[in-house]
Amino acid sequence: MGFRPFVFRLATELGLTGWVRNSPAGVELELQGNTEQLARFDERLQSELPPLAVISSLKSADIPVVSGETGFAILASSDGSHEAQITPDSALCADCLRELSDPADRRFRHPFITCTNCGPRWTIVTGIPYDRPLTTMAAFQLCTSCEAEYRNPLDRRFHAQPIACLDCGPQLSLIPPHADPLGQAIALLQQGRIVAVKGLGGYHLAVDACNTDAVARLRQRKQRDEKPFAVMVPDLATAQQLAELSELEERLLVGPEAPVVIVGRRAATPVADLVAPGSLWIGLLLAYTPLHQMLFADTGLKALVMTSANASDEPMLSDDAEAAEQLPGIADAILTHNRPIQVRTDDSVLRVFQGQPLFYRRSRGYVPRPVLLPFDAGKILAVGAELKNTICLTRGNQAFLSQHIGDLKNEATLDTFRQTINHLGSIMEIRPERVVCDQHPDYLSTRYADELGLPLLRVQHHHAHLASCMAENGLDGDVIGVIFDGTGLGDDGTVWGGEFLVGGYAGVQRAGHLKQIRLPGGDLAAKEPWRMAVAWLWEPLGEAVWQLPGMPALAATDRQLLQVMLERGINAPLTSSAGRLFDAAAFLLGAATRNNFDGQAGMALEALAETATATGLLPYHLQPGRPFQLDLAPLLLGLVQRLQAGESVASLAWAFHASLATAVLEGCELIRNETGFDRVALSGGVFQNRLLTELVYTFLAKSHFSVFIHRLVPPNDGGICLGQAAIAARRS
Ligand code: ZN
Ligand code: ZN
Ligand code: FE
Repeated sequence: MGFRPFVFRLATELGLTGWVRNSPAGVELELQGNTEQLARFDERLQSELPPLAVISSLKSADIPVVSGETGFAILASSDGSHEAQITPDSALCADCLRELSDPADRRFRHPFITCTNCGPRWTIVTGIPYDRPLTTMAAFQLCTSCEAEYRNPLDRRFHAQPIACLDCGPQLSLIPPHADPLGQAIALLQQGRIVAVKGLGGYHLAVDACNTDAVARLRQRKQRDEKPFAVMVPDLATAQQLAELSELEERLLVGPEAPVVIVGRRAATPVADLVAPGSLWIGLLLAYTPLHQMLFADTGLKALVMTSANASDEPMLSDDAEAAEQLPGIADAILTHNRPIQVRTDDSVLRVFQGQPLFYRRSRGYVPRPVLLPFDAGKILAVGAELKNTICLTRGNQAFLSQHIGDLKNEATLDTFRQTINHLGSIMEIRPERVVCDQHPDYLSTRYADELGLPLLRVQHHHAHLASCMAENGLDGDVIGVIFDGTGLGDDGTVWGGEFLVGGYAGVQRAGHLKQIRLPGGDLAAKEPWRMAVAWLWEPLGEAVWQLPGMPALAATDRQLLQVMLERGINAPLTSSAGRLFDAAAFLLGAATRNNFDGQAGMALEALAETATATGLLPYHLQPGRPFQLDLAPLLLGLVQRLQAGESVASLAWAFHASLATAVLEGCELIRNETGFDRVALSGGVFQNRLLTELVYTFLAKSHFSVFIHRLVPPNDGGICLGQAAIAARRS
């Protein structure tokens, strides 16, 4: 983080002698000088800390005078270790931004300007130690001016591995070729065309976010009808014009991690509605590389859609040859350059919940920063689940989670998965001794784990969710876990997803769950929410379900087929999924006709509910037993009846959330009465829903439970590898 050069500069300035070096325990330094000089050092060490450095603890002691010391030196690390030096990619810093726009600076308009305080790290590292020859900058020979900065401990670019200048650095180019690649790319964007832009971790597709036709064309070419696009803006002032920002949201936007922050959209903005159709929210991020900044500077462009460039369902493109081959059908031009991307890394996505970040995707800007476990885990590889896959390698109490890999459903993503495991392992110098996977035998991650020949542990999906939430909150012992998500293979062979678990890392019992219903049509049921409405209401309503508003007009034979599926369980596995319950409710309220992307119906329902005020609750039935079952058919029936009676869909959407939260409270109270446990961990993708999380949290807290939610990793399957690793560690 530029910490040692900073110490060097400070010590030299104050006339102190001694040395600084990395050690396994942190940074060590020896200083010699008079009391006043040393006190000044202590003070300025804290107050002038470089932007990316954090001092978590500081210990000092007096030592005997070392005679003959003449200057201050930066020494090699005490044990030859390297990992401390590889940090996440970091957004362009204020100093570099100033130089980028200063005609007098020698790096004026240098699209790759960087220093010790900013720029690419994780995405350019090819090996360790972190040194220029082991980055994708290896091919660029430093010119004399750059070399002088690189060697000068008093310079901001001292030992900044990726530095370069217009003379010696990477060059921009355009496909199809053009004499002025950047100028032409900007001209195309101004005309509403689609330009693929090579960023830190991969290629984005960019269009002018204020041009409705351009956004429509992008949706059509990308075959993405509804999923919201992220929007990049040049600075905080522009972000403030587009959205209502809290202080924390502002801090997250301008922070070195530069994630996409989902924020409340202002009613009237120049951004095309098609960017996030019908949504009160918008995902914003700040231009985080110099190249991105140059797309905005004096161009009249105010906001750009920035969406990952990829073939459908495949990983974000990061390889230049693949991009050149695959992008011309989608993009009108490709703005690229010759600094290779070593590690494909998507943008991170989060939103603020109760004054803290809640991750949807933890990726660029955060990887490879470790999550600290409350215990020593040894060397474990956790391979995650299937959707939103990430992997995790542990060493001691550190858990290194990978960047977002994607849905492990095709060969291309599986390749990225394999590369990621190998790369993270070699960078962190971790050779795993054990491996842990999901108990679903058909996940590609499970098959990979099977073939490693290492001691293997299989973990139930929702147990891993629970352990993930426990681990990041530093919990041990036994807790209650409320795990609501889309899907996961249960111990009884059915599909789980609305679970009340009791236990800890060593093991859990299923204390309760949502009532099991059929998934008519299997995977199709997750895409077509009407199927879930039929499945939930078949028992109480029978044939009358076909009269529900919005039901597709099926031929009599198709209806019969559905009936056979539901009654005999043919092509209709049992599930207790909470995600599918949200699908049914969203359909009944007319909020969703299809799930074109994971969680779409649930998000639509949440968005509706957020516009409503509190209203009367709906009934449900808790059927006691071990496990108890929460029957929510009365709740869904109530929605239908109150809708017919003229109540607004928004207030019913709110009532759905609040009633479900009440049911969760009753389930937890039942468990507390039996076990005495009063700590509740909430996990699973459904807890990306802020309204549900807020209601559940509030109800539980009011009833004197201690509630724990995810803050460091996503509640969805992107956080599952952490839980797998924690369980494996505790079962060793
Ligand atoms: Zn900088
Ligand atoms: Zn140079
Ligand atoms: Fe899950």
